Amino acid sequence: MMPAHVDTLILGGGTAGCALAGLIAERSSDTILLLEAGPDYGSLHEGHWPRELLDARRIPVSHDWGYDSGPFLPGRRVAYERARVIGGCSAHNGCSAVWGTHWDYDGWAAAGNAGWSAGEVLPLLQAVDRRLKVRRYEAEEIPPYQRAVHDAARAAGFAASADMNDMAEDEAVAYCPVNNQRGIRWNTAFAYLDPVRNRRGLTIRGSALINRLLLERGRVAGAEAIIDGTLHEVRARRTVLAAGAYGSPAILLRSGIGDPRLIEPHGLRVAHALPGVGRNLQDHPAVAVAFPGSRELEAASAAFERSHWTPEELVIVKARSRQARESFDLHLFSEGGRVADGSDAWRWQIYAAGLLPRSRGQLRLASVDPAAAPLIEHRHLSDAEGHDLAVLADGVELIRQLASQTPLARWLGAPFDAAILGDRRAREGWIRARVVHYWHPAGSCAMGSDPAAGAVVDARGKIHGLEDGYVADASIMPALPRANTNIPTVLVAERIASWLT
Ligand SMILES: Cc1cc2nc3c(=O)[nH]c(=O)nc-3n(C[C@H](O)[C@H](O)[C@H](O)COP(=O)(O)OP(=O)(O)OC[C@H]3O[C@@H](n4cnc5c(N)ncnc54)[C@H](O)[C@@H]3O)c2cc1C
Repeated sequence: MMPAHVDTLILGGGTAGCALAGLIAERSSDTILLLEAGPDYGSLHEGHWPRELLDARRIPVSHDWGYDSGPFLPGRRVAYERARVIGGCSAHNGCSAVWGTHWDYDGWAAAGNAGWSAGEVLPLLQAVDRRLKVRRYEAEEIPPYQRAVHDAARAAGFAASADMNDMAEDEAVAYCPVNNQRGIRWNTAFAYLDPVRNRRGLTIRGSALINRLLLERGRVAGAEAIIDGTLHEVRARRTVLAAGAYGSPAILLRSGIGDPRLIEPHGLRVAHALPGVGRNLQDHPAVAVAFPGSRELEAASAAFERSHWTPEELVIVKARSRQARESFDLHLFSEGGRVADGSDAWRWQIYAAGLLPRSRGQLRLASVDPAAAPLIEHRHLSDAEGHDLAVLADGVELIRQLASQTPLARWLGAPFDAAILGDRRAREGWIRARVVHYWHPAGSCAMGSDPAAGAVVDARGKIHGLEDGYVADASIMPALPRANTNIPTVLVAERIASWLT
């Protein structure tokens, strides 16, 4: 049964939405409704979850919204993967469980967001790690290619990290902590919802597409959703939007909340002017250098594969570009193994990702139809100072240096584009033509104190200028942390749940 009125309505059963629903269910007697566009497969032990969503080795595309760069990258199309399933992107991601540095969270707090300093969020990050069953691999569990990347980084002068998530640590090479349990990707639906699925008053509804928020006399009174082809209205004492960095601003804009210039052309009424909605969109820009690899590497990898469980991304180098200030500003990470097309082909790559991008993008509506994809313009490498391009150019140079160290050089060979990569100008053009993202969109409903300066929510996730309406997901990060964003997003849910309960 779909309740028509609840205490807490959560819109989007993704990474943050599941965590939030689980925490509020545990800590309060609220009636709660969690609405998710994708399917809800129930608890893990019921056995209905598709195998590819459980297998933490590969990133499946079976439950994807299908977003992409649309008209914004002439001549190429970059997919912007987002999961449409209970658990959200935590149910199809790479399971790298990374926190970032204390400068990241202290930066959020220094920008006027009380309660988010590194000291204050540390116990919550520890709680997230426990929930998500984060574990560290032993050296013998690391596949040969990843091991060679680690050894090459050591040979190039990087210290071996004792803990990737030491928030004071600067440059180092680390085995990445991961949130999987015996190979099962431990998503937030398992971690936070399964323990409370039978709690009275908690309703979880999949296949529910949220159209817009309901606004009444300056407050968010609930939401409108399409379920089984029928439009439903649900009213709530408080409503929390958790539809992610693309979904949350799109729902706000459809509700008439945002910059009037982005709302009125669609024939919608402006319900609440809030210029920052959809702006400040960020992701870590990334570029991959590909290598031919050798028969020996393939043979070593195939032999390892026969006796081990082999995930793809296990080693991360935290590195400084020449633009870096107080700490590292690059991740170098490898991706290697069989191409997932059933052939015998192998692929060997090393990525550089810039962790403190200055470029900002924007999300707008393409149509008022809730089923239509929004226009997502990331504008990577567009900052006027050329900072982001310079960081990636240094990252590619560091990849060249890593690949020339014996542990890798003996296996990888020279990069396919070696001639171009050696020349700085040519390298910059090469990067511009290939830049992608690190799957970490954030910031499109940024928290901050001043709505005129682009803040959409305050430090407690409350939408500026409206009562009883909140946003709690990756969209509220004012700036990206130097980290993959899954754990930081669950942190957002933990932090806001601590204030809502
Ligand atoms: C392929 C991939 C790999 C990644 N790998 C890693 C990794 O290894 N480590 C890491 O730290 N991070 C990784 N990330 C990033 C990380 O998973 C995300 O930053 C994080 O999960 C975002 O959480 P969220 O709650 O903000 O959004 P989501 O998890 O996307 O949740 C949003 C939810 O809202 C739902 N929704 C949206 N719109 C509507 C609507 N209109 N109606 C109803 N429901 C709606 C969606 O279906 C979704 O379930 C990866 C991401 C991807 C896509």
